[in-house]
Amino acid sequence: MKNQPSFHLLFILAISLILAACDEGTTSSPEAKWGIIPKPQKLIASEGALHLSNNFTVEAPAKFGTAEKELSSFLAGKTQLSQANAADANGKIYLILDSMRSFNNEGYSLEVNQDEVKLTSNTQEGIHRALASLKQLILLNETDGSYFLPFVKIEDWASFEHRGLLLDCSRHFFEVDVVKKYIDLLAFYKMNTLHWHLTEDQGWRIAIDKYPNLTEIGAYRTEADGSVYGGFYSREDIKEIVAYATSKHIEVIPEIELPGHSQAAVAAYPHLSCTGQSVPVANDWGVFKEIYCAGNDSVFIFLEDVLTEVMELFPSDYIHIGGDEAPKVRWEECDKCQRRISEEGLADAEELQSYFIRRIQTFLSESGKQIIGWDEILEGGLAKGALVQSWRGMEGGIEAVKHGNQAIMSPTSHAYFDYGLDAIDLKKVYSFNPIPAGLSKEEQKLIIGGECNIWTEHVPDEKTLDSRVFPRLLAMAEVLWSDSTSRDYPEFVERIQTHYPLLEKHGVQYGKESVAMSHQMELDAGVAYLELIPYSEEISLKYQYDCLDCDQVETEYTTLIPILKSGTIRIQPFKNQRPYGDSIFIPVSNHRAVNAQVNYISEFSEWYTAGGERGLVDGKLGTLNFRDGAWQGFWGDDLECTIQLYGASEISSVSAHFYQYNNSWVFIPTEMTVEVSSDGKNWKSWETVSSNNDPKQRGKFIQSIQIRSTTPEQVTFIRLTAKNIEKVPDWHEAAGSDAWIFIDEIIVE
Ligand SMILES: [Zn+2]
Repeated sequence: MKNQPSFHLLFILAISLILAACDEGTTSSPEAKWGIIPKPQKLIASEGALHLSNNFTVEAPAKFGTAEKELSSFLAGKTQLSQANAADANGKIYLILDSMRSFNNEGYSLEVNQDEVKLTSNTQEGIHRALASLKQLILLNETDGSYFLPFVKIEDWASFEHRGLLLDCSRHFFEVDVVKKYIDLLAFYKMNTLHWHLTEDQGWRIAIDKYPNLTEIGAYRTEADGSVYGGFYSREDIKEIVAYATSKHIEVIPEIELPGHSQAAVAAYPHLSCTGQSVPVANDWGVFKEIYCAGNDSVFIFLEDVLTEVMELFPSDYIHIGGDEAPKVRWEECDKCQRRISEEGLADAEELQSYFIRRIQTFLSESGKQIIGWDEILEGGLAKGALVQSWRGMEGGIEAVKHGNQAIMSPTSHAYFDYGLDAIDLKKVYSFNPIPAGLSKEEQKLIIGGECNIWTEHVPDEKTLDSRVFPRLLAMAEVLWSDSTSRDYPEFVERIQTHYPLLEKHGVQYGKESVAMSHQMELDAGVAYLELIPYSEEISLKYQYDCLDCDQVETEYTTLIPILKSGTIRIQPFKNQRPYGDSIFIPVSNHRAVNAQVNYISEFSEWYTAGGERGLVDGKLGTLNFRDGAWQGFWGDDLECTIQLYGASEISSVSAHFYQYNNSWVFIPTEMTVEVSSDGKNWKSWETVSSNNDPKQRGKFIQSIQIRSTTPEQVTFIRLTAKNIEKVPDWHEAAGSDAWIFIDEIIVE
């Protein structure tokens, strides 16, 4: 086959366009822009360009699918705009699409020269990716309502076969038109998967004929203020969205969460839970313990019925079944679940979850469907053939491929677009590499791509959605499509500037690339310094040091700020002399332990490091934003560490700030103990104090715990222990999960 000339001209599309070649060297051809995103694998630009004018015709065999129609309607608007300069049209140029070359499925070539515009691929997908490049080239090269195509030769293909966006339409509901707008944008940036999150504790969004309560009851929640919020997609809505996506070669993968994140379903049909008791659709954010009962066969009948209807609506080979964040407290207390564990010879509730997933997987695979699950599906044994989506770092993906399973990477470190720009900015997304170090060639091949996730707890409307997803999606699109060795962030940022007008035309209310500045602490001897780092050269910074006996005048930032007093540093960024964004407040503390050596007895989490080993003695305090980089987290474990001061010092007080946000399983410790020593061997206990905290208190707050000595003491070593409540308490929606301690600083005075 290889040596035979291929004449499978499946997709010959002759679009005769009357185009006018620009006279070389005339001023009518402005500077050409080739800034396609994602960056093509090979692009050779040359001098010259074609003007688009009107009077074009499009012809194509029916087999070609929707590309022809899509292209002609795209061109129609553009060429009408340029009627004024159409007089000098001097010939026909053909767009020819054929299958003469061999690429991977989405590969294509695109050539523009003075004689023709030629798009080549051997698949419809490839032609659609070529169209995306062609459209971008045309739109990027608009001048005063007139469009031209610069001469160029592109050969292009995808680095990863799975390039997705997870859109959570459950926490907040988005209308059909918004979903379609996102499908357009995914296609425009050569993403190929919409991972559609349709069921949650806070809302069931997909109509299921056999179980009308799922949407009559499960799609609506009563908010804390008494208002009702909700919505759902009818079968017709879903067919419309899937057909629309299919026409653009975007695969829609539905996510039906199980066994957890299912309180809305339980609210609709209480018999699905272990207790059988009626619960409301959740109206707060978090993880909820009312999950499907694993011991009740009627649950599996229900899920099989639901999935049967889901399969009718979604042609994808994949169904995402969630599998994440399922607290096991109900299963532990449920006779039916316990009976299942013993009858099936399972070790514990983790293995019961594996049983649950495997049973659903078996059902789906009988219909030829493959499951995708979050990395928790690894716990208690991974089902063969399951595709793992790694979100808690890359580890789940690594473990999956070591088992021989495929994986998709969407770690919270780079791919969570609901996180603020202080945690994940454009540059961070652009630095993402879905292939972690240390994998063999075969294992690397099992990582089929990545996704960016937009969870919508705090995304109530389209405007907010746009500002979270864009421009970060463009960086993810490039990471997943383009060659990783061609990454050049400054060059990417230049290219992205030319795409903002295009996003505006798409009706996208995009957000910023980054916070105006970042900061870090520099430690030298016993002094902490605050370093401010503007995001770009256009940004200047002014700051004011607010403390009891400070001057409190606004000062231009030029160099490191020594932290000599405890207080707050307020920073205002400026761009072109005008305030740029809100003021930033950084609380700081100067105390005896700054830059002391800290030895950890318990380990802090790699996700919340406060900057590392000196994070608790760096002079920087935390704010109510627990991702501000100041908080150090201990998960399911006490905090225990020793501090070695610079020689013996007279001290009388040790205090620490702790954080509580019980929706995210973060609790103030139950008690704190301080011990002191002059030699690090013989310890004297100062005191153990109880926090007297109410773990049920909702919202985000910070509590300080202080221990004082009645008389000042000469010490070199301090040991601090804070007791974790260990498990999320029984009354909590996520009862039984490991609890967090968050601490920002150990202040010694
Ligand atoms: Zn049960």
